[in-house]
Amino acid sequence: MRVNTLKRAAVAIALALPGAAIAAVVAAPAAHADGCYTWNRNLYQGRSGSDVRELQIRVAGWAGNRDIVELDGIFGPKTHAAVRRFQQAYGLRVDGVAGPETYAKLYELQDNDCTPRHFSYSELDDGCGRGGWSGGPLSASETRENALHTMWKLEAMRRSLGDEPLYVTSGFRSHACNNQVGGASDSQHLYGTSADVVSRTSSLCEVARDARNRGFSGIFGPGYPDHDDHVHVDSRRENNDDGASNSTSWSAPDCGIG
Ligand SMILES: [Zn+2]
Repeated sequence: MRVNTLKRAAVAIALALPGAAIAAVVAAPAAHADGCYTWNRNLYQGRSGSDVRELQIRVAGWAGNRDIVELDGIFGPKTHAAVRRFQQAYGLRVDGVAGPETYAKLYELQDNDCTPRHFSYSELDDGCGRGGWSGGPLSASETRENALHTMWKLEAMRRSLGDEPLYVTSGFRSHACNNQVGGASDSQHLYGTSADVVSRTSSLCEVARDARNRGFSGIFGPGYPDHDDHVHVDSRRENNDDGASNSTSWSAPDCGIG
């Protein structure tokens, strides 16, 4: 069954892209059974599909300064640059092509539930003691998907800051939870797109500065009211469900960010 599916896929590629067909089929990664997700072809600039989007989620934290990797399923220059930074960060060959070596690292990093190895859903779910992903403006599954995206950005930050633990003090908040803690009325925490982060090995300013390169379009830290004991990071630019414009907003005056 699986073999037939792969054969059909290969034929489809051959029909669609006669010139590239042989190289693509020969270079396809060896079959690999991963508990979360398995890629079945090499990905590089010009390719598109749901497998590109799965890759984009996992390299979103390597977006580069003030940039984001959109989850559009199209492997463009920003995805290429992010894959290169991912490869650089993990000591792989830096070519911007997601192939067997890059996938092997991603399989190593992802748990069977698709969270990156150093973060878990339970760290980001409703923070007022109830757990779960319901009670916000989005469906539970949309909220959980946003939290997954957030976690992959945090995994990149953790790597960038020297492979030391980062601690999430608040992730998703239901409306009830957000009211309880006095969060902003349209807080990114309601959507699963944000995390409040602390570290024992990096200063808050080091965390805030690093966040600028990790695809976080919202950063609030030391010097911003009520943010002297954690750094808030979020993905407001990618959030089309909130009431705010899709723009970058950073403020951590004590860290020279603002
Ligand atoms: Zn926050």
